[in-house]
Amino acid sequence: MSIKKVMVIGAGQMGSGIAQVCAQAGFDVTLNDMKQEFFERGIGAISKNLSRDVEKGRRTEEEKRAILDRITMSLDLQDASNVDIVIEAAVENMEVKQSIFKRLDEIAPAHAILATNTSSLPITEIAAVTKRPAQVIGMHFMNPVPVMKLVEIIRGLATEDEVYESVEAMTRKLDKTPVEVNDFPGFVANRILLPMINEAIYTLYEGVATKEAIDDVMKLGMNHPMGPLTLADFIGLDTCLYIMETLHEGLGDSKYRPCPLLRKYVAAGWLGKKSGRGFYVYE
Ligand code: NAD
Repeated sequence: MSIKKVMVIGAGQMGSGIAQVCAQAGFDVTLNDMKQEFFERGIGAISKNLSRDVEKGRRTEEEKRAILDRITMSLDLQDASNVDIVIEAAVENMEVKQSIFKRLDEIAPAHAILATNTSSLPITEIAAVTKRPAQVIGMHFMNPVPVMKLVEIIRGLATEDEVYESVEAMTRKLDKTPVEVNDFPGFVANRILLPMINEAIYTLYEGVATKEAIDDVMKLGMNHPMGPLTLADFIGLDTCLYIMETLHEGLGDSKYRPCPLLRKYVAAGWLGKKSGRGFYVYE
């Protein structure tokens, strides 16, 4: 199936990045969120990224305009009625995602693929609330989307080969590298990454070292481009907590229990860079 029209749900960190790379690749993009101000925040972030590209001579002002013109605002899921694929990037919460997919299944054309950018929730369980589980798939982009090459493509139990192939081809058009993964908690990326971040939080919680020291050890000692606590702030501490809970529940092993300090920060509204404060404070 040839994909031309894309709807992205959620204009947050990930959704705005996904909308940007889709528009850059020439797709018509409908970017949906619950309120106009959320859409505007997303489009503002896209515009800022594109302006940086213009300043650095990577694209022209005309190209920037053309990319922004391909993105249309949506505040109503009904706008999914004429798209070829929906990529959902709302919050990491099964109830929210299932309610979105249930509605999308009623609204989107019969041929449309329903993809989710979930970091860790089972694709099969999201697909089960629809009447088209064969057309439901995971498309797990990495943060920041315009920069990172990888997209984990996750097959749900019922995902058809043809759907997988269409999504793989679209991913290549976005200038990303698809990697095929099966549907198990955390997939590959987060099953390995998040327990490392959680262990870094335990290391801070138990007073083994300061946050700066923990980040320095992993940057200078392991050649990671960013320390784990800084990375957690970038991912969003609420997202980190959801993923740890999903691993803990889905795999049933106590080694995946979320650190109490992570719970405390999320309860305080310290969600990382997006809220201005996490392990570090952001202007
Ligand atoms: P975010 O909080 O920045 O953005 C979520 C957006 O979704 C918000 O703008 C919110 O208003 C909107 N939203 C919530 N419910 C909605 C609904 N019912 N309809 C329409 N819009 C709705 O979160 P994020 O970091 O962009 O994460 C989004 C998804 O991407 C999550 O599933 C997350 O696990 C996944 N993800 C995140 C990262 C990361 O590094 N942050 C990486 C890969 C995948």
